[in-house]
Amino acid sequence: MLKVGPNHDVRIIHMYYPNRVGRVPPCYLRHMDNLRFDNRFVNELPGDPEHGPRLRQVHGALYSRVHPTPVAAPALIAHSREVAELLGIGEEHIAGELFARVFGGNALLQGMAPYAANYGGHQFGNWAGQLGDGRAISLGETVNANGERWELQLKGAGPTPYSRNADGRAVLRSSIREFLCSEAMHHLGVPTTRALCLVGTGEPVVRDMFYDGHPRAEAGAIVCRVAPSFIRFGNFELPASRDDVALLERLVDFTIARDFPHLSGSREQLHAEWFREVCERTARLMSGWMRVGFVHGVMNTDNLSILGLTIDYGPYGWIDDFDPNWTPNTTDAQTRRYRFGQQPQVAYWNLGRLASALAPAFGGVEALQEGLQHYVSAWHAAERGSIAAKLGLADCRDEDVTLMEDLRGLLQSAEVDMTLFFRALADVDPAAPSLAPFDGAFYDDAKRQAAEGSFLAWLARYGARVGADPLPAADRRERMRRANPRYVLRNYLAQQAIDRAEQGDYAGIHELLEVLRRPYEDQPGREAFAVRRPDWARDRAGCSMLSCSS
Ligand code: AMP
Ligand code: MG
Repeated sequence: MLKVGPNHDVRIIHMYYPNRVGRVPPCYLRHMDNLRFDNRFVNELPGDPEHGPRLRQVHGALYSRVHPTPVAAPALIAHSREVAELLGIGEEHIAGELFARVFGGNALLQGMAPYAANYGGHQFGNWAGQLGDGRAISLGETVNANGERWELQLKGAGPTPYSRNADGRAVLRSSIREFLCSEAMHHLGVPTTRALCLVGTGEPVVRDMFYDGHPRAEAGAIVCRVAPSFIRFGNFELPASRDDVALLERLVDFTIARDFPHLSGSREQLHAEWFREVCERTARLMSGWMRVGFVHGVMNTDNLSILGLTIDYGPYGWIDDFDPNWTPNTTDAQTRRYRFGQQPQVAYWNLGRLASALAPAFGGVEALQEGLQHYVSAWHAAERGSIAAKLGLADCRDEDVTLMEDLRGLLQSAEVDMTLFFRALADVDPAAPSLAPFDGAFYDDAKRQAAEGSFLAWLARYGARVGADPLPAADRRERMRRANPRYVLRNYLAQQAIDRAEQGDYAGIHELLEVLRRPYEDQPGREAFAVRRPDWARDRAGCSMLSCSS
């Protein structure tokens, strides 16, 4: 036993590979004792016999053991108190030096068993072969006092066997975006991976942000992501692509047992119910994104979670003026495959790839076809629920779908802010509708003038429909306020926090995190977070255009 610093017992249990010269090797610390790890993924599934980050194709294994590579100066920038509470990590630990070391990748807690997962994926419609966690390293699976499983994963923790030609690191700007958006999504009620903390590495990371031959050194950071499971569609696709049916079956059985423990029945029934539930969850996820105006940006099959969580926050964006054709991702600017309005169809396509991968393990395609069919009905049901909630109706009739479609057409052609419009819709007097509540929501005066008549006609239809609806006015408004957020992580707001953070001022991150904890409440004094995107942000890098370089 070594003793370093006050009260920290340090024991070097295992070192799989030599660390970079002059760096402290990872070592296992006894601390944050209430974190109990059971690490089922690595304990129950076949792993790569070789340990460490040497680049390689990994066959016959679902993961490789690899340690985070220590960084120069890990320093905590921000944390989510809700996630810390979920994990049972007390605030006294968070302030301590050890916390930043562990979540910066410089030390491991006793019980952690770090690994990078091996998966493949379809990227922009094409099979890409082995991808894997190139810069994410899972530290371990904890089980909290309520018996809930939470896996801890560092993003940007250094090279793994799956890093291909990249460095395994992440820049501060993209890490801030992932940290804030994970928590914002959770508070909006949309399923997502969570974020425990954001740690600065004290090391530069070189990136060519727009792939135009202008690389520059940026600040590096690491996010600790937290989810019950990080398994993606691509985890199943890789063994299927290699005809490794035995490995595929191991993963299917494991996923059902660990992540869908409520399912029961014969093997055949289990398979069918499981796939149906994956389809259902994916449909609900799409409905959540469409309701709040979130565009993922890179819906490759390696970025779709088997639990229907939003995962891998890269060049995502939020809709300001309502435009179904918008994508924030400059890498996808040509075909706009992952544009806002196409997300539900892309999810269906991705489920189709998952179904093909699962077929050899299912011993038939009937259950898979039924699951896909179920996605279509689940999407329509969720969409109708969302229409009723956003418009404040007791339920959604066929003509309400048309009402919503017509509204979307108007919002698009008149360039109206989606979030502001829907939030203000609750303030309309159905008996005497006017455009007054929407004053701040239009981006273009000329377009507003041209569209005023059409809007008034639509509002008259809406007013009549609301007048005939059984929901009392107060309930209607409450229902709308719970479906139409006041605060979302507008692209320019995140960018402002990033600009400040790059100057060493993290207050903007803390402030945004605080606002986004209560997105459905009006927060007096915080009106500035709920306004139209300013003109300067319309075409600014980071605000409307993002690349995959992160
Ligand atoms: P993404 O589009 O961010 O989901 O990433 C696609 C693939 O590239 C995944 O296998 C990632 O792990 C990998 N990747 C992305 N950025 C890096 C990086 N900086 N270092 C290593 N691998 C990376
Ligand atoms: Mg990814």
